[in-house]
This record gives sequence, C-alpha cells and structure tokens, in this order.
Amino acid sequence: MKAVRFTGVGKAAQLVELPVPQPKAGEVLIKIGGAGVCHSDLHVLHQGIGVDHPFTLGHENAGWVAALGSGVKSWKEGDAVAIYGPWGCGHCHACMQSFENYCENWKPGQSYGGGLGSDGGMAEYMLVPSERLLVSLGSLKPQDAAPLSDAALTPYHAIKRALPLLTPESTAVVLGVGGLGHMAVQLLRCLSGCRIVAGDVDDSRLEMAKKLGADLIVNTKNADEAAEKINKFIGPRKAALVLDCVGVQPTVTLGSKIVGMNSQFTIVGLGGGKLVMDGFSLPFGCMVSTPYWGSRTELLEVLALAQSGRIHAEVTHFKLEETPSVYKKLEEGKINGRAVIVPQ
Ligand code: NAD
Ligand code: ZN
Ligand code: ZN
Repeated sequence: MKAVRFTGVGKAAQLVELPVPQPKAGEVLIKIGGAGVCHSDLHVLHQGIGVDHPFTLGHENAGWVAALGSGVKSWKEGDAVAIYGPWGCGHCHACMQSFENYCENWKPGQSYGGGLGSDGGMAEYMLVPSERLLVSLGSLKPQDAAPLSDAALTPYHAIKRALPLLTPESTAVVLGVGGLGHMAVQLLRCLSGCRIVAGDVDDSRLEMAKKLGADLIVNTKNADEAAEKINKFIGPRKAALVLDCVGVQPTVTLGSKIVGMNSQFTIVGLGGGKLVMDGFSLPFGCMVSTPYWGSRTELLEVLALAQSGRIHAEVTHFKLEETPSVYKKLEEGKINGRAVIVPQ
C-alpha cells in the first residue's frame, strides 16, 4: 500500500510503498476513508516530536473496519469509525476517565498515537492497537468526518471547560479560523449563547467564520488596531474566553490585550509564542491553559453534534499522492477549512 511518512526532522514527507499491516490479538485494521491534514504535521516535519524513527503521518483519521485481530468483540468488518487519536495506556486514572490525551504513563520520546510517533492514517490502511480507540461514525462519511477527531475535538474540549463563563452577554474570541478555528466558531454557536469574535490575518477565512456564526470578524494583521476594535465591540468586560488557535507571538500578545477579568485564556495553537506572566500582566482571575486534544467521550459528543447537523467540517479532498503538495499549500496558507486526504 502507499503511505506518506515522516523520515526525519527537517525532511519533506515521503510517499513510500509498505506492506498492508496484519492485525495481531486485540488490534483492528482500518481501511482509511479520510485523513485530515493538521497544521501540527508541519510542526512534526520541521521540529520533530522527540521520536527518532520514521512513521506514517496522519493523526485525524476515519474509515472502515477491514480486519479484526483475535479477541476483538465490538466491531465487524465494514463498520464506519473515527479513530480516537491520543493513545494512552488505557488503565491510569486519566485513561479510565477516557482522557487518554492526559495519560499519566506517557513519557517524553514515546509515541503520542497514530500519526504522531506510531503509523497513522495517511495510507490505505492503518493499524489501531485497541478496539477501545474506535468510535462509530453512524451516518457520517469518513472523508468528511475525519477532521472531527482533532480539528473539532480539540476546540470542543477547550470550550467545554469554559462553558460556565460563556453566558449570553459574554464574548468569546477565536484567534485563527483555520482547521481548528472554523470548528471552534460553530461549537461556540451551538454550545453557548455568547457573542463570538473571529480574528485571522486572512480575509477569506474571516468570511467563512462569518458564515459559520461569528458576530464580528477582525483582520488581526495590525494587532493594535485589532485589539482596539475587539475591545470596543465587547465593552469593558473584555473577553470571557480567548481561544488562541494559532499560538504565535502576535496572537498570544493580542490575546493578553483583549482577555477580561475572571476569564479563560486558552492557547491550543502550538506556534511557540510566549506569554510572560506575573501578578499584574493579565487581568485578575484570568486562567491560562494549554489543553491538548480531548477525551474519548468528548469525541462521542462531537460526533453527535455532527450527526445531527449542528457542526460540519468545511473540507477539500485530495489524493494520497498529493499529500506532500498539500502540506506545502497548508504552509502557504492556501487551505480554507480542512484538507482531507482520501486514499482510494
Ligand atoms: P491552520 O493552518 O488550518 O489554521 C491556522 C489559521 O491561523 C489560518 O487561518 C491562518 O490564516 C491563521 N493565522 C496565522 N497567523 C495568524 C496570526 N498572526 N493572527 C491570526 N491568525 C493567524 O492550522 P490548524 O490545523 O487549525 O492548527 C492550528 C494550531 O493548533 C497549530 O499550531 C496546530 O499545531 C495546533 N493544534 C494543537 C492541538 C492541541 O491539542 N493543542 C491540536 C491540533 C492542532
Ligand atoms: Zn492535529
Ligand atoms: Zn493512561
């Protein structure tokens, strides 16, 4: 089968030929129907993730059950599934709560999951180590639903933690309305009654955010003007939630200027921007956090929102062979919504 691999820090993704893996006891083989192209893959290719062996990329995956290892009971061939991406030990306190994204037994240098240290979904087939890591897609199609497992699950987890603050007269600001951000706008719209501001440096992204439910869109190229515009719109309370889906220095700095007292400043973007903190650098009571991905039960919740038509990923489909050029397009800011690789 064809697969797109990470082969070393600083090297371009490689399209290679590999044997189709065979599931051993407890494992499930998935025929990939869609693999989302996440910006994190660019960080993986450029900076690495502390894993020194090659692996197949793609951590945002959905497809159909193709073969079962012995002992697998919950699935049958042909079932449409999303693959839960962060693979924990399955038995620590966090994993028992289905928060495998916060597994207590994960250690630096270890794989984070398929496509992030273990073989992922940018291939015709992918091996999943346990049936517990699969969630039924129901009526959703793998090539459209794949981004829900990360681009939607990550902001869902982040927003859910902030829900008590998101009252009808409050405001949430989403910075960066790309793959994650365009899902965040929709999630805020259906989970809360708050007003929504979307910021980005690309006007076409902002237009999309407006269609998906943003009350105000702001081009943040000039950060000072953007801060002024956003603060004028919100009023003296400032933002109850700033969800930074970029995490570069300009967005982290902008976020700190628009976040309010007793608020949440949540940075999910991994752009390397630094936030300097002391007792006075942020409004009193502002909680800063850097959540990672989401839980298995939260993935069920996200899929339920999509199954009932309340959220959807804006996707563009590409062939597996096109993946290296799709990474280039993503890097150049030429992908709106989410690119999804459809192997066959
Ligand atoms: P994307 O490329 O699809 O979207 C990024 C968006 O940010 C684009 O719309 C771009 O125009 C915008 N942008 C770039 N610079 C900006 C700036 N200075 N101000 C405002 N907007 C700006 O990326 P994505 O796949 O949505 O991922 C976003 C980030 O989130 C990446 O850093 C990725 O690694 C990270 N991520 C984190 C987690 C997590 O669990 N913490 C999960 C997935 C992705
Ligand atoms: Zn990702
Ligand atoms: Zn664990």
